[in-house]
Amino acid sequence: MNRALPGLTLDELSTALSSRQRGLEVLKWLGSLSALPKELPELLPGVSHRVWSAFRQQHGVTQLQVTERSISEDGTTKYALQVDGANIETVRIPAKGRSTICISSQAGCTRKCVFCATKELGFIRQLKAEEMVAQYLLARFEAPLDAPARNVVFMGMGEPMDNLDEVLRAVEVLTQSPFPQLRQQSVTVSTSGVLPGMVRFLKESKASLALSLNATTDEVRARVMPQNKTWPIAALLGALRDAAVVDPDRDTFVEYVLFKDVNDTDADADRLVELLRDLPARVNLIPYNPFPGTGLETPSLERVKAFHERVASQGQLCLVRMPRGREIAAACGQLVLAQEGQRGFVPGEALQR
Ligand code: SAH
Repeated sequence: MNRALPGLTLDELSTALSSRQRGLEVLKWLGSLSALPKELPELLPGVSHRVWSAFRQQHGVTQLQVTERSISEDGTTKYALQVDGANIETVRIPAKGRSTICISSQAGCTRKCVFCATKELGFIRQLKAEEMVAQYLLARFEAPLDAPARNVVFMGMGEPMDNLDEVLRAVEVLTQSPFPQLRQQSVTVSTSGVLPGMVRFLKESKASLALSLNATTDEVRARVMPQNKTWPIAALLGALRDAAVVDPDRDTFVEYVLFKDVNDTDADADRLVELLRDLPARVNLIPYNPFPGTGLETPSLERVKAFHERVASQGQLCLVRMPRGREIAAACGQLVLAQEGQRGFVPGEALQR
């Protein structure tokens, strides 16, 4: 079987159906659905029976099973999903007038970030582009009418730069017209700082980038993100600086998870401002969402506010992502761990924090 829907680009659909108009009809059909179909329909409006039948013999449609749906008070909805035997998670975060969908790019992860629950799962497998786009569609179909899905963040399980071909394909499909027609700026790929992948992404994509910096010295960063020994802070920020010259319009975010007494001091705040000087990046501060066994703790609300104030007062754009941002972060493996009963998690625990 060849690549499944919804992982085909318009060009590929057009080639497979021998006409661009027919390719467009497929995208229109996808846009008319209210749920992911179990299989491709026998007839597709605007495509001849003969051509469509031949296509159906070659291509299927991705199947996602929802094994759990947890809805928090603010409407944030987490889906634990099974796709082709692998457990992954997707989150929908509603805001005023729009929702953001947080999707996984891998089942598990090969990176070893100390604070991230996904590392407990190890690496299961790469996700295909259609499995990423299908996560978006599933969450989109169920979005509240007054908060349609407008943004996608690759901040669920996995390191997108370790599965970059499929991630780039997913971004291309998500931003296709006439459907799903997301804006490039509305799709944000988040990386732990896998430098070669990041550089390639910055060259090949116009989507937004988020770099998970999470420390202001190499020593501390290497403690919480061991791969920093390979790709240290100066190299990562250097790549962002180079890319900003070529493409000044790209939205770039720096994610900074705050850990009590580890990276949340006034000196850290000052160093952060210094590191990001001359870089058109916005900072998202994320209070650590704890889970047992990491030895890391969440700073007090006062400390988070003081850190924010110190960064913002020096002219650096900076937002605190809480409690919603916290729930996005909680998508990093915590629901799947809960399901698998590891480390004493109970399902939904992350939602109550
Ligand atoms: N691998 C990618 C994307 C997945 S993690 C990356 O590292 O960016 C998405 C975001 O969640 C990252 O900014 C990461 O630093 C943050 N994160 C992971 N675990 C967290 C936790 N326990 N609490 C708060 N944020 C967390």
